[in-house]
Amino acid sequence: MGYYEFKIEVAEESKDALIQRMSGMGCLGIVDNEKTLIVYFSDNDGITSILAGINSFPDILKKAELDSSFTYKYEFISERDWNESWKKKFVPIEVGDNFTILPPWETPPPGRIPLIIDPGMAFGTGHHETTRTCLALIEKYSRLFDSSVSNEYEILSANASCDERSFLDIGTGTGILAIAASKLGFRIITGVDIDPLAVDAATRNIKHNETVNIEIMEGTALDVEGKFDFIAANLMSEILIRIASDIASRLKPSGIALLSGMISGQEEDVLPVMEDEGLRIIERFIDGRWVSLILTH
Ligand code: SAH
Repeated sequence: MGYYEFKIEVAEESKDALIQRMSGMGCLGIVDNEKTLIVYFSDNDGITSILAGINSFPDILKKAELDSSFTYKYEFISERDWNESWKKKFVPIEVGDNFTILPPWETPPPGRIPLIIDPGMAFGTGHHETTRTCLALIEKYSRLFDSSVSNEYEILSANASCDERSFLDIGTGTGILAIAASKLGFRIITGVDIDPLAVDAATRNIKHNETVNIEIMEGTALDVEGKFDFIAANLMSEILIRIASDIASRLKPSGIALLSGMISGQEEDVLPVMEDEGLRIIERFIDGRWVSLILTH
């Protein structure tokens, strides 16, 4: 028994597609080291099928009209050396004012809100900029639901008492945003994802965190009933545009919608569609090449 460590160099624009592909192939974890992605597989998967999956990837990139230039090298790591090489790459990271994202084998630091995430899937481990931005913005805007805090945006979810604050996480991935919402005091939380692997990962992470009140569903926003005080959707801009009416119709009056995952400039396409659905912008948050929008009715 052992593991394979792949070091893959890929163009920035193709990185997210690679991450999705590796997760889909059942990799154990991904570390995003700026230029190089380090991806781990168990040798149970068989090196021939791993290589076949990776070697067919440039064709997929070409079809998506993304940069398909791509190099990799790999090495076998024996069971004995595994813990060292694997675990030391997943160090806890601090996000927002209070969160620390950490793998299940680390001890949560005192005084922080721990988000325990199994690193089997990169999207949502917090190594992605948009996940970190979402966590910080959820932390910031969830304070509006605290009646003791003055409300500078003149929006108060007056209809949400503490016991029934609700949160919808569209495209939950590892469940990290839903777990954060639970730890911030939201009481009715739904995470939905079209990918069954994401549903499994989110379910596992909820167990690690012992968080309550989170329901994870396989599907889209259309499968979710009811209206929510807070909606988070960290998705590509084309998807945000496609599901704009689903987001607007599931947001309570004076609720908060956090849209993330847009690359700078794409928000110019997303915002008018959201405005047509009756939403208005409160904040445009720019983090490098990524943009997030905070909207309300
Ligand atoms: N919320 C996590 C993961 C974001 S990655 C985070 O912020 O880190 C985006 C996720 O959305 C993926 O898991 C993908 O499977 C899912 N997804 C893509 N389109 C979707 C749709 N139309 N409805 C629900 N989930 C979707």
